[in-house]
Amino acid sequence: MITKEQAITNLDNLITKVEFARLQVSDHHIVQVVAVSKYSTQEEVEILYQAGQRAFGENKVQDLKNKSIALDKHPISWHFIGTLQKNKINNLIDLNPTLMHSLDSFELAQELNKKLEAKGKKMNCLLQVNSAKEDAKSGVSANDAVEIYSMIIKECPNIVLKGVMSIGAHSTDTSDIKKSFDITKAIFDKCDGAKICSMGMSNDYTLAISCGSNMIRVGSALFK
Ligand SMILES: *Cc1c(COP(=O)(O)O)cnc(C)c1O
Repeated sequence: MITKEQAITNLDNLITKVEFARLQVSDHHIVQVVAVSKYSTQEEVEILYQAGQRAFGENKVQDLKNKSIALDKHPISWHFIGTLQKNKINNLIDLNPTLMHSLDSFELAQELNKKLEAKGKKMNCLLQVNSAKEDAKSGVSANDAVEIYSMIIKECPNIVLKGVMSIGAHSTDTSDIKKSFDITKAIFDKCDGAKICSMGMSNDYTLAISCGSNMIRVGSALFK
């Protein structure tokens, strides 16, 4: 289990690197950090919370539920970052996540919209783009992304689209990863009203920020 001292060190190191990377982009480029707690316990989330972190992300609805209920005395904003199965949509809606990063098809958007409407609710979401064109990754294709983004705005009024999310190319070649981030950023720039570009994880967040990311999702680098 992570110690309090380690949590503070990890956060300090992360913030220092994020600061350096974001200032290369612009003084006004602000980057939000979502701590991905999917491999961590509720106690470890509590420790990182005490060290100052306020936004956490989970990739399973049940884990999001368990941890958010256990820690509900704290003002934590919870993000959902995983593949959403249709039979879990209502459970996710009931948890009122701050942001859902992983809207990965128009069909899922329609389904989610229908269930939000039935409950009289809205949800902030990001459209997930498979910019690296990898079979193992979810998301709409880069070619269709801008069109699907505007279709969701038009046809899914209970979904509040805030921007795009992408996972960098799974590669040891930095130029492949950069290319996938550049593709995502270009899509982000074309999407009407998009504010959030969620890209960058423990191994590639500084590169993602230099490519224009303004929200990073960091797990192992914070909880190690
Ligand atoms: C696990 C996960 C992360 C965090 O990964 P790390 O490499 O541990 O930082 C970020 N985004 C998504 C979608 C994830 O599933």
